[in-house]
Amino acid sequence: LKPHQRELFGQPIGLYILFLTEMWERFSYYGMRALLVLYMTTSALGDDARGAGLGWSSKEALALYGWYTMLVYVMSIPGGMIADKLIGQKKAVLWGAIILCIGHGILVLTDIWAFYAGLGFVILGVGLLKPNISTMVGGLYKEGDIRRDKGFSIFYIGINLGSFLATMIVGGVVAKWGWHAGFGLAGVVMLLGLINYIGGQKYLINVGNFEVVEKDSNEVSYSQLFSKLSTSPKQLLISLVLLIASFYGWYVMEWGYGLLFVFLTVITSLLMMIYKELESQIFKDRFLVLLVSFIMVIIFWGAFEQAGGLMNLYTDSKTDRNFFGLFEIPTVMFQSLNAGFIILFATIVASLWAKRKLKGKEASSLFKMAIGIIIMGLGFLFMVFAVMEFNNSGSSSMIWLVLAYFFHTIGELCLSPVALSFITKLAPVRYASLMMGVYFASSGLGNKVAGIIGESASEFGELTIFSGLVIFTVIIGLLFIIILKPLKRLTHGAEDNETEIH
Ligand code: GLN
Repeated sequence: LKPHQRELFGQPIGLYILFLTEMWERFSYYGMRALLVLYMTTSALGDDARGAGLGWSSKEALALYGWYTMLVYVMSIPGGMIADKLIGQKKAVLWGAIILCIGHGILVLTDIWAFYAGLGFVILGVGLLKPNISTMVGGLYKEGDIRRDKGFSIFYIGINLGSFLATMIVGGVVAKWGWHAGFGLAGVVMLLGLINYIGGQKYLINVGNFEVVEKDSNEVSYSQLFSKLSTSPKQLLISLVLLIASFYGWYVMEWGYGLLFVFLTVITSLLMMIYKELESQIFKDRFLVLLVSFIMVIIFWGAFEQAGGLMNLYTDSKTDRNFFGLFEIPTVMFQSLNAGFIILFATIVASLWAKRKLKGKEASSLFKMAIGIIIMGLGFLFMVFAVMEFNNSGSSSMIWLVLAYFFHTIGELCLSPVALSFITKLAPVRYASLMMGVYFASSGLGNKVAGIIGESASEFGELTIFSGLVIFTVIIGLLFIIILKPLKRLTHGAEDNETEIH
């Protein structure tokens, strides 16, 4: 057997190469993310061991943080396009990794220009790496291979192993050697990811190559698609309306939102034109299903991402974190619960679904995603109990948070790795990376929505927000289950006959 055909624990070895690369990339991303707001809001005078921060107000810091975490994912769209049309996924991941090393390297410097430049490089690097490495995982499997879903669950463990280690280690490094050592650590770790990726190339010979993508396509360039827009009155009208709405948004909101809306208009127009150009009805229908599933994605992350915001603040100020009178558990530790639960439960959840499928019961991706939204939403029920306890007694127990994060995590496992896998099954090959990019951009929009919901808690109160989230998500999940049958029909059996292919 050639290296790229060899297997380990029933999966292609290439999966483990991608697993490790993504693990180190996520370590660097989440490690840096954990520091970001703290660094921005620390006094610029440098009066503790961590060194000088930027001395910003928390409002300024949170605003930059919101845009940063959104942009990182929105950049997956150009990242995916570059892979599809110019260099293929494998090279895009390589360049992404190199750019990330440069970005984290620059952040070691203390100047303010280095701060912005470093973040800019990280945004570009993640945009190139993240969607394309995910598409490459899909490329390891032939159509109809039942191992694909499980493969993505394993890959998802890599993601969270990276995030778990980062949130455990980076804080300590910063406390001892200062902010820029923390940023530097992210860079060193990314270098490990790069070396691992380059070293593992022989296991990835047949995935993510540009030639493969190009061969089965009768190329239409993006600019051709845009120029065709002018000849399709209906699409053109929709684009114009969106564009006007964008400029209105620019006018009434921050300019950042305006730019975002313009960008979304361009992407929407592109997607409409791609849909029009797809040669068969099967491709068109599947494309439509993907777009509908992205609505679920936005809703899911819009609720889920309260974790780093509202729930984080709740943990900090209203939860009794006293551990049997021995010590107080630091707030940030609660952020590791999600990644920890994923590492423990990812394979279990994946196996349960696979068993159900082999028994011939409903276990389509769309069904799992809808169930995922409901389970995650029910998690907020425990936050409702927490607020009620706080209102009665002036503090609430940690157990509510643990339960809430547990439900959130099980919901995430039903949706997130499943969605990644689903995209690689349904997207037309020559737009595979673009669609992966649109998926991540949807989750980025979800992050932004989460921020907006979280902010409104100061107006409506936590009880309203948490119980509202339960009701809304459960209703949406049920609605998707109701329309499951027609939606599934539109996938034209993309998941019907999955079997064991080796
Ligand atoms: N935790 C996942 C990751 O880092 C979620 C990403 C997302 O879809 N927003 O890959």
